[in-house]
Amino acid sequence: MHEQIMPLRCGHTICYLVKGPTGSLLIDTGFAESLGQLGSQLKMYALDLQIVDYLLVTHFHPDHMGIARDLAELGVTLLLPSCQVPFVHQLDHMYARDHNRAFRPIREEDACRLEPEDSRKFLSAHCGIDGQVVQTPGHSPDSISLVLDSGDAFVGDLCPFDQVELYGDVQMESSWEKLLGLGVHLVHFAHWPDERV
Ligand SMILES: [Zn+2]
Repeated sequence: MHEQIMPLRCGHTICYLVKGPTGSLLIDTGFAESLGQLGSQLKMYALDLQIVDYLLVTHFHPDHMGIARDLAELGVTLLLPSCQVPFVHQLDHMYARDHNRAFRPIREEDACRLEPEDSRKFLSAHCGIDGQVVQTPGHSPDSISLVLDSGDAFVGDLCPFDQVELYGDVQMESSWEKLLGLGVHLVHFAHWPDERV
């Protein structure tokens, strides 16, 4: 595998930097005001925020997208599949309710539309990353995952495979079927330890 995977702990969210030979993709962010945390986590790998070219948000909950706008202003491009577009602002009101002035909503015009079916070509051309974005609803309707050809998958808050049976949720089960069908064997979550499947 030629991608490097770096877990970055930002509060209770584990973000991941997937670094390809020609570009880097950040999976998720922490809450608003976590830019400094992200910077210090990158420093542990002797990197800084400038290494981040693209951002992929596994789903638009506040603990996964809080600093997307700050990153956009630093030149990071949000990759946005159309299945996520209706959900981008669904929970902005939570920050507004908490009077969190540090949070600023995402501007869709800064984002780059990336459909799952075009993602393999895009990631290869722009980052040298071999993999694809897939829709994996279950935790939320807008949930997506990044699946690398190495068998690594970044699934956000999808329920771990060893617990999926407990839920009897058809959507969750079909998302897992999709991931296993793509040869996934090491799963990276946003809040739980890695799982081998
Ligand atoms: Zn979460």
